[in-house]
Amino acid sequence: MNPKKLLDYFDVAPKQSLGQNFLADPGALAHIVDIAEVGPDDVVLEIGAGTGALTRHLAGAAKRVIAVEVDSRLIPILQEQIASFPNVVLVEADILEVNAGELMQTLAGTETFQVVANLPYYITAAILRRLLENPPRPTRLTLTVQREVAERLAAQPGDMSLLAVSVQFYGRVRVAHRIKAGAFWPTPGVDSAVVRIDTYTDGPPVPVDDERQFFRVVRAGFGQKRKQIKNALAGGLGLEARAVVEALERAGVAPSRRAETLSLAEWTALTAALREHL
Ligand code: SAM
Repeated sequence: MNPKKLLDYFDVAPKQSLGQNFLADPGALAHIVDIAEVGPDDVVLEIGAGTGALTRHLAGAAKRVIAVEVDSRLIPILQEQIASFPNVVLVEADILEVNAGELMQTLAGTETFQVVANLPYYITAAILRRLLENPPRPTRLTLTVQREVAERLAAQPGDMSLLAVSVQFYGRVRVAHRIKAGAFWPTPGVDSAVVRIDTYTDGPPVPVDDERQFFRVVRAGFGQKRKQIKNALAGGLGLEARAVVEALERAGVAPSRRAETLSLAEWTALTAALREHL
């Protein structure tokens, strides 16, 4: 049954504050499961199960699905929708309050899992941060997000952001598929895209001795928008301009560049050049 009919039947109104735009297009749901390459040995964490449309597609392909949903009004709907799938465990929780690794270990007996989700837009960045910064990381994440966010995640030097650097540090990002706004109910104001992030199992793609220092430098660089990197770093790290310019030159980064133009490798070189001052 489509989400509108289901919600009407259970007399539940969608809550915009929880990012409730339900995917109503069966073709798009099947395509997401294909992009995620979910197979019979896979354990999947689904975030924001909603009315269970994606959950059911996942359950048909995966070994086990742990489906997390924060809205208690949707739990009876979900229970009914997944009743014929014994491989689904439903968890009523706020994903930002749970430790995903512990949850998977407890409910699926493994810390090897992937994430598939049509994410509530308002907490996309917070969820990504939580899942990527805290091991055990998912092996891959297949996420339906606002199209503009998908493009930001996959950005190249020239259009980088703190979010893009943070995500690309942990995984290879690719925008796999676009989904028109009309595929959702209620229809959001913007199109969406499915983005797949394959996390690096052997560490980041660039050599980083100290992850904390790396992110301190990146955060400082992006801290003052549209400023030249030398000013952003001096301000953000509380350093003298002369020391920053010297480090930039040693790292081969022109002091007049802006943070959004730097590659991951350049951020790494810059962190190394600044080390004595951090
Ligand atoms: N998976 C469904 C689908 O594809 O139609 C629903 C997707 S809807 C965009 C996002 C879902 O995430 C909603 O059901 C919402 O209640 C849920 N949600 C919002 N914030 C959440 C949170 N902090 N933790 C868990 N679920 C959340």
